[in-house]
Amino acid sequence: MRDKIILLEHTARLLEPNAAQRKYLIDKTIGYTEDFLNNLQTSLTYVSSPGNRKGLFDSPISDSTINIDEVLSLLKENVDTPGINPASGGHLGYIPGGGIFHSSLGDFIAAITNRYAGVFFASPGAVRMENMLIDWMAELVGYPGTASGNLTSGGSISNLIAVVSAREAFSIKPGDIEKSVVYLTAQTHHSVEKSLRIAGLKYCIKHYIPMDDKFRMNSEQLEITIKKDLQNGLKPWLIIASAGTTDIGAVDPLYDIGEVADRYNLWLHVDGAYGAFFILSETGKGVLKGIEKSDSLIMDPHKGLFLPYGSGAVLVKEKMNLYNAHYYQADYMQDALTSVEELSPADLSPELSKHFRGLRLWLPLKLLGLAPFRAALEEKILLARHAYEKLSEIDNIELGPYPDLSIITFRYLPLAGDADEFNKKLIEAIHKDGRVFLSSTMINGKYTLRIAVCSFRTHLEEIDSAISIILEKIKLIGQS
Ligand SMILES: *Cc1c(COP(=O)(O)O)cnc(C)c1O
Repeated sequence: MRDKIILLEHTARLLEPNAAQRKYLIDKTIGYTEDFLNNLQTSLTYVSSPGNRKGLFDSPISDSTINIDEVLSLLKENVDTPGINPASGGHLGYIPGGGIFHSSLGDFIAAITNRYAGVFFASPGAVRMENMLIDWMAELVGYPGTASGNLTSGGSISNLIAVVSAREAFSIKPGDIEKSVVYLTAQTHHSVEKSLRIAGLKYCIKHYIPMDDKFRMNSEQLEITIKKDLQNGLKPWLIIASAGTTDIGAVDPLYDIGEVADRYNLWLHVDGAYGAFFILSETGKGVLKGIEKSDSLIMDPHKGLFLPYGSGAVLVKEKMNLYNAHYYQADYMQDALTSVEELSPADLSPELSKHFRGLRLWLPLKLLGLAPFRAALEEKILLARHAYEKLSEIDNIELGPYPDLSIITFRYLPLAGDADEFNKKLIEAIHKDGRVFLSSTMINGKYTLRIAVCSFRTHLEEIDSAISIILEKIKLIGQS
């Protein structure tokens, strides 16, 4: 037995590199990431990848190993080259993610010290840090001291947590589902309906409220619909407002919708995954007026605070609504129950063991302060307006609404031929070129292109370059 254990230990100890081995691996890894960052300016934003299962798949997971140089070269070729480069300032498609450098240091420390941020008893400091960040966000949006929340992996999970909290707060039982009504718009993010389905609420009634010409929910129509539903014996329950829709960046009239929610005692959830952090900017603060009237709210640090993917946040105005929907007791957790100084993330979300996400947010906020974030967010709003003005100078460009935040939409109207076909060709040409990445959508059934300014590396130079690339491709397609 002893001999066998010692033999096993010999191999198992490979999991514990010594200082010299660590230094070697760290230097190689930093060399790789520094190369990546130093070449970013000249790297393509989009590289199409023809379907193959080579590269990574030629090096299967097994007992044999490859060295760090081989690992990094596999990574570079097969992971960090094909597809969209989310670190590039030329990423103007979908909602660009972040990836600020300082967060990587937080992740590095969190992965090594591996504090367990699920339960206060296990790591009071980690839980205090996460709760402090939640309190900061709650104050930012104007929530009272009764609020609580959770740092999640992203907006979709945040929406799910909010929907489940709203379900429990209204005690919606299986028999109530088919009469319970959710109010949203055609521009609501699909993760909300996905959340409803996952939460067992697939069969509740969804009423899509008409929008104004800027794709914002019409609050008068909302009230009319609620009244009608009450007359018909239905149970109005949940209003979903968007603080920055994904397609257009439209902000619903949050204050007016909040008034309606108050009048009829409904739960107002605001999806601010993309837009809510714009409250840090002067312009955004005005646009987001009324956000404090919501009962729950989501905001994604991996969008609006430029963090790497895997950082969302959900806030619930009355913490008991969040707690009642997510707490759990188990015999093996009894030690954890003795401390109630701070609520534990494990009682406020579906997760138990979890990544210590707070550190990747806390560390950059402490090192940089809020000023660069405020400036970057205001800059993104102004860059979107700048792009809007530049595009309006091009003949035959049909523009979507003037941006509420940092997303604009447009399409080119060719003098002859089908406009949808032309714009499809236009986006394909932009993708093939790869210097910038734009995405497309359908708006009122029309093929439409989008520019979403949300990367911290997008500045005037990138926007001007995007406009000239668009112009260049329009001319090229027009000639062919
Ligand atoms: C991105 C987004 C989501 C989903 O968030 P993930 O972090 O991608 O899961 C939800 N709502 C809106 C408005 C979004 O822009």
